[in-house]
Amino acid sequence: MRQVRPLLRARADEVCELCGERRGEEAHHRQKRRGPDRDVLSNLLWLCSACHHVRVHAHPSDARLMGWIVSEVESPAATPVFRRGILVLLADSGEVLTTDHSY
Ligand SMILES: [Zn+2]
Repeated sequence: MRQVRPLLRARADEVCELCGERRGEEAHHRQKRRGPDRDVLSNLLWLCSACHHVRVHAHPSDARLMGWIVSEVESPAATPVFRRGILVLLADSGEVLTTDHSY
């Protein structure tokens, strides 16, 4: 986490990746994992405390629909996530890719 945190904060421009309004201050792991691939950029969101605790962890079923929580059988890199109101894919390179899906 020590190595990836500066990259995560840079991707987020220091701002919460959910609301896009408040200053980010906490790393959220989309998928619970063990081992070295736990701290890859596709698996992480940089969040303000309110979004992290209220929007994500207090409402896990909604958070799964939004891609903020990813089940163990899915790949975070392949699971679209609502980031500041836009559906994107998060790459391990730090790129934020808009999805081709139209809903
Ligand atoms: Zn927020």
